[in-house]
Amino acid sequence: MEDKDLTASHIRVDEERCVACRECMEICPQTRGAQYPVYEWGEEGMPQVANPESCIRCLSCELGCRARAITVEVEDDGSRRPDGDPRAEMKCRAIF
Ligand code: SF4
Ligand code: SF4
Repeated sequence: MEDKDLTASHIRVDEERCVACRECMEICPQTRGAQYPVYEWGEEGMPQVANPESCIRCLSCELGCRARAITVEVEDDGSRRPDGDPRAEMKCRAIF
């Protein structure tokens, strides 16, 4: 199988900040029980972005990480999602 270039992912996990609580893996709708999960648990005891193409950019992991270790680029150009986007409301329902 061809190696993936994980440095090209739109999801960044700051391993300096991560406290290995696994909350991101629990909260991500595209990880728990998914065939191609966005996150997998790495050998170093940190979440690894295994399948970034599965991500729907809902931001649940970024907002749910209490260590503020995750950054998700919302658009391919790195810009943030404008207010009022319905996906932002979906994200809030997923968290609260
Ligand atoms: S939620 Fe944040 S601190 Fe917890 S494992 Fe994920 S990246 Fe690390
Ligand atoms: S933005 Fe949403 S779908 Fe993407 S990794 Fe985070 S929680 Fe999962």
